[in-house]
Amino acid sequence: MNTKVITCMEEDDKACLAEAGRILKAGGLVAFPTETVYGLGGDAFNPESSRKIYAAKGRPSDNPLIVHISKWEDIYRLVSGAPEHAARLETARRLADVFWPGPLTMILPKAEEVPDETTGGLRTVAVRLPSHKTALALIEAAGGYVAAPSANTSGRPSPTVAKYVLEDMNGRIDMIVDGGEVGIGLESTIVDLTVNPVEILRPGYVTEEMLQGLLGTVETDRTVFEGNSTQAPKAPGMKYRHYAPKGELTIVSGEETRIVPYVNAQLKLAKAAGKRTGIIAAEETLASYTADARKSLGSRTDGLGAAKRLYRILRELDDEGVEVIYAEAFESTGLGAALMNRLLKAAGHHVVEV
Ligand code: AMP
Ligand code: MG
Repeated sequence: MNTKVITCMEEDDKACLAEAGRILKAGGLVAFPTETVYGLGGDAFNPESSRKIYAAKGRPSDNPLIVHISKWEDIYRLVSGAPEHAARLETARRLADVFWPGPLTMILPKAEEVPDETTGGLRTVAVRLPSHKTALALIEAAGGYVAAPSANTSGRPSPTVAKYVLEDMNGRIDMIVDGGEVGIGLESTIVDLTVNPVEILRPGYVTEEMLQGLLGTVETDRTVFEGNSTQAPKAPGMKYRHYAPKGELTIVSGEETRIVPYVNAQLKLAKAAGKRTGIIAAEETLASYTADARKSLGSRTDGLGAAKRLYRILRELDDEGVEVIYAEAFESTGLGAALMNRLLKAAGHHVVEV
């Protein structure tokens, strides 16, 4: 298959999306920018499109897709209208009033009509209304319902620029819409509204603190930060090793005065063993390390900047052939919870306390 790449920026006239809309309606696949990461879209009501998404990503078929809509009213075709679920839809409405359009995905009981292929066989459906103008226009052009996981090969870091979509998907999908670099850089927060109290299955830009501000009690799935939990993660996708660079990544946490000498000693050992080395650190401490590749996540005070840089850095380390990577731990509050969750998964939960 020949993968066509077109450029369509947020400010552009959306005529550039006419062909992409036709491809989606005909059951094809189109990758597109959202405010979180690039998505790999197919028609959510076409089971064949969903099957193609799994095949293109090499994704296990029990890992459900998120259905993207462009306006609130469209949620009613996705979610069960049974009276016993009315309260859940009411909670969804309250969340939508504050956080949609935006980087929040809600899990709700699914309507019969939503294909099992799209929901990985689950009785629930994940729904999101993104804020990215190109994403919204594409969803409309496609008929309103676009199932889209992140546009990476399963297990690789999610793409934050079109170049990395092409790297993973060239020849596997019909089209890539290049809309430049995404704004947030980490996937959406996933919140399960089918349980009481509601539960965060994946941390993201919309934080636990923000959701608590609106709903009161909100829990976070404990597998989000624990690598050795006996419990399976509730978002099926979270159980797979994910976001992984090719090199061996270790996170180091503790006092800064101890981290720098510890990491430098480890990097020196790896270098002596003939390995290419890398470090991921805050701007404030980056210059203290000696490594073949040094990557700054930005200032410790700029969580949003760090979120945006993480996946690009993981891919750059791959491109540079780095084999042994150390990363400084970050604070797990606010947006830092999402950053640390992805870093922990990238490292296979390999953390050293110094
Ligand atoms: P991605 O868009 O690639 O980040 O993948 C979508 C994520 O949403 C995966 O982690 C899925 O397991 C999760 N997800 C999608 N639908 C559901 C659902 N119905 N229940 C729980 N998690 C879901
Ligand atoms: Mg993904």
